[in-house]
Amino acid sequence: MTLEGRISLITGAAQGIGKEIALELARAGSDIAVADILFDKAEETVREIETLKRRAKAYGMDVSDTDEVHQTVNQINEDFGKIDILVNNAGITRDSLLIRMKREDWDKVLSINLTGVFNCTQAVLRWMLKQRYGRIVNIASVVGLMGNAGQSNYAASKAAIIGFSKSIAREIASRGITVNVIAPGYIDTPMTQRLPDEVKKGFLNQIPIPRLGLPQDIAKGVAFLVSDDAEYITGQVLNINGGMYM
Ligand code: NAP
Repeated sequence: MTLEGRISLITGAAQGIGKEIALELARAGSDIAVADILFDKAEETVREIETLKRRAKAYGMDVSDTDEVHQTVNQINEDFGKIDILVNNAGITRDSLLIRMKREDWDKVLSINLTGVFNCTQAVLRWMLKQRYGRIVNIASVVGLMGNAGQSNYAASKAAIIGFSKSIAREIASRGITVNVIAPGYIDTPMTQRLPDEVKKGFLNQIPIPRLGLPQDIAKGVAFLVSDDAEYITGQVLNINGGMYM
């Protein structure tokens, strides 16, 4: 399974799952455009990729800003010559019960988690269609499939990613471009490290394989879906959740 000669753009790759995806695809041979709202941390990811003898560059990019996304994607094409692989990984949570949810927290989550995926996908698609090759993997969540009290904004954004992905998978399958979703369960990253201990315990009790997921568990799935071995797989949701949702 080699990604030699491939160029990958990964959003939210400064830390957590996105960083591990960037490292895993680099280990498989891809060069990497590391995009994140946290530019300095993205540069740390770049330095780690460079120790693997792959080319990488950091881009400060807010996925919810349409103009910034299009400018950055143009810049990446100038810097690397093409984009073969897009992993839409950037995402946030702003949790509260619906009754107390502020409109701004609804809007913020939807604009980053969902409109961000729209922005980045549309921006790379122009180039992928021209080269008649592309691999897109969108990171949703188990919560988008099973719901979670206190996360109606997040769950709505992640469920929508699945419908979006299946629709465009149908639009562009004949052009050599596949679009798939990974729905992670509860993964140990800065996002979940912020959760209160009783919430973490509650999640753990729901996982048949008795451990938290690790960023590597997700990164291995992405590496498979973007490889040539997965060329006949499109419009699918790969659940990586230790059996939390079956
Ligand atoms: P994380 O540790 O918070 O990393 C996400 C990265 O994306 C952070 O560097 C974050 O910066 C960045 N980001 C936030 N808003 C952005 C924007 N507008 N534009 C560009 N980058 C932005 O999260 P993670 O746990 O690795 O999660 C990665 C993805 O997996 C997310 O889509 C998440 O919803 C999904 N997921 C995670 C879990 C889990 O258990 N961890 C489970 C299911 C799904 P800031 O730190 O400044 O926000």
